[in-house]
Amino acid sequence: MSVVSAANCEALAQKPEAMNYRAFGRTGLMVSALSMGCMRLGEDQEANTRVVARALELGVNYFETTRWYCGGQCQHRTAPGLAGKTRGVIVSGKCGIGPDSTAYGFRQEIERQLDILGLTHFKFFQVGWFSWGMMPHLLKRGGVLDALRVARDEGLVQFVGFTGHDTAENFIKCLETGLFDSMTVPYSLINRTYEGTIRRAGELGVGVVAMCPVAGGTLACESSVLKEALGLDLPTTEMALRFVLANPHVSTACSGMTSAGMVEQNACTVKAAGVAGSSEDHARMCAGLEKLRAAFGARLCTACRYCMPCPRGVDIPRHMELHRNWKAFGLADITRRQLDGVPADRAIELCNACGECEKKCPNQIPVRKALRELRRLRGKGAKTVAAPQA
Ligand code: SF4
Ligand code: SF4
Repeated sequence: MSVVSAANCEALAQKPEAMNYRAFGRTGLMVSALSMGCMRLGEDQEANTRVVARALELGVNYFETTRWYCGGQCQHRTAPGLAGKTRGVIVSGKCGIGPDSTAYGFRQEIERQLDILGLTHFKFFQVGWFSWGMMPHLLKRGGVLDALRVARDEGLVQFVGFTGHDTAENFIKCLETGLFDSMTVPYSLINRTYEGTIRRAGELGVGVVAMCPVAGGTLACESSVLKEALGLDLPTTEMALRFVLANPHVSTACSGMTSAGMVEQNACTVKAAGVAGSSEDHARMCAGLEKLRAAFGARLCTACRYCMPCPRGVDIPRHMELHRNWKAFGLADITRRQLDGVPADRAIELCNACGECEKKCPNQIPVRKALRELRRLRGKGAKTVAAPQA
């Protein structure tokens, strides 16, 4: 969606001594290579204000928010750190849509989020939790697109993006409608599902916000396997950010930072990584990751969920993800901790090895073997537990 008459067009603020900036698709804006996802801000408001303020000081000029994070408090927690400092800064808002969405309701939501954040306009507003299947709700007469067009013409919203978790192919179809200026999708060393979609976005001039660049903290542990594969002797979080930003089609890596120290460390990494992505570096890193996949051998779980529900309640896709992170990427410590975090009513101990999941899996994943190995990793052996009583 191109801007026709936005009243609030201004260049973004830059601090080149502390941060690198990259073209944000065809918008003409230069966005900080590190951006801040505000979905993890906690209940300590002084700490929230400090982390947002520190991000601004270090040149971050993109903050992603929505009213729907943090139990409805995300934007309330973000606003104090931004107060009086939003000139030249993108503070994006976001709202999901559905069959009952109307132009009136969506407009009200935009205004409500502006109010909470203390903004006069959104440089970016995102259609959240979006998928190709929701396109009719966006396009219908009196629907969300009408609201966005009016808001854009009034200068209330300058650019429109989408974010969600649809298939890579469906998101390419969304991009090719030409309706969107940005796309926000997860992308990291261990989640390259949308790599082809990101490439297509680059070709179409759509800005790419890579969310979860350290995979929600999974990449916050050491991995000699990843070091060797990538040819980098760096902490895993640094390698993770470097990988995402080596992709020349990524505009910004959006990290859910929760402390000033985290912002400082990430800003330092991003600054050291250089200004632009390098196709050559990126291809080299991808080749290293492909070797790991090949060494992993077993076919990779695509999280399609065809194996679900498990009759015993096991969260199979989550465990296949943990198994891959451990076996393919050498992330044993964090995998052990994350196994402990799986709720008891979805845990591996419930598996009775019935094999139903393997019959339904289109990728022939050896689920039972993987679950046995995960149980051994936890040091609890591979014993079968009794079935729950009806
Ligand atoms: S083998 Fe285990 S995980 Fe698979 S369906 Fe049976 S109980 Fe569930
Ligand atoms: S184990 Fe197979 S069926 Fe289940 S989510 Fe993974 S790929 Fe899909």
